[in-house]
Amino acid sequence: MRDCNKHPCNRKCCDGNCPPCEKPCGRTLSCGNHKCNSVCHRGPCYPCAQTDIVTCRCGATKIQVPCGRKHKTKPPGCNKTCTIPPDCHHPKREHHRCHFGECPPCKQVCDKLHSDCGHTCPALCHSDVLVKEEAQKASMPWEQTKPQIKRIAFPCPECVVPVPVTCLGGHETVNWPCHLAKPSSCQRPCRRILGCTNHTCSLPCHTVIGAPDVTKAGENCEQCENPCLKDRPEGCQHECPKPCHPGDCKPCKQMIRIKCNCGLNQLYVTCADWLDPAKRDQLQCCGNQCPKNE
Ligand SMILES: [Zn+2]
Ligand SMILES: [Zn+2]
Ligand SMILES: [Zn+2]
Ligand SMILES: [Zn+2]
Ligand SMILES: [Zn+2]
Ligand SMILES: [Zn+2]
Ligand SMILES: [Zn+2]
Ligand SMILES: [Zn+2]
Repeated sequence: MRDCNKHPCNRKCCDGNCPPCEKPCGRTLSCGNHKCNSVCHRGPCYPCAQTDIVTCRCGATKIQVPCGRKHKTKPPGCNKTCTIPPDCHHPKREHHRCHFGECPPCKQVCDKLHSDCGHTCPALCHSDVLVKEEAQKASMPWEQTKPQIKRIAFPCPECVVPVPVTCLGGHETVNWPCHLAKPSSCQRPCRRILGCTNHTCSLPCHTVIGAPDVTKAGENCEQCENPCLKDRPEGCQHECPKPCHPGDCKPCKQMIRIKCNCGLNQLYVTCADWLDPAKRDQLQCCGNQCPKNE
């Protein structure tokens, strides 16, 4: 055995006076990666002279550490912007610094166009949301299941941009959330003027078809079924024979019986003529030899 106490002397016939060992030490250094290159020696080896590099995630910031310390060293902080490409539909992530692990969730406004209305989505980004899925019930009590993390692209919520909507009958205009903005009946009476010109349509607010203008009734409005309710000329006791109608009533054609001036004859005249003061005197003349006419 040589003086190093490790390597045997290879001389066939040794007198015990061996020259110092010249083999390399070869022990694994404390770094765990390299072997000692020194010539065989007593006592501890020199520490490993090699170094390792520890970098931030992006690699822009590095520190040098003694060999073997790489995995025990905290990576250096980095002031560079994180350059991990976005998982959502946004072209860029919001600015944040280089880091390890997941990027923070995207907080940008979605801004996607609703294809049906052309409004943009005002919600916070929802095209790549991490969702924890409840752990499945283990079949055996001693089995352990972990909750799963899933990435989900949620569809845009319904558009709620306020949109002015006029009711079917044009009575009112109110703002509705865009996805509900469809003209409907406000349930007020229609109130278009009927053909009789005296009454209005009392049907609940509806789409009016074939009306000559926005005030007059259309084909699908109510029909007036009232009798004529106009005031009769003073002295007329008769009802208008026509149903509710526009304009003045026609002269009353009811025949009434009168006595002529002389009182000898009975005469039949129309109510209208009788009520006309210009005609009355003449009418009362029976044409006979009425004493009053002489
Ligand atoms: Zn986003
Ligand atoms: Zn990041
Ligand atoms: Zn959206
Ligand atoms: Zn309406
Ligand atoms: Zn209405
Ligand atoms: Zn109507
Ligand atoms: Zn009428
Ligand atoms: Zn009338």
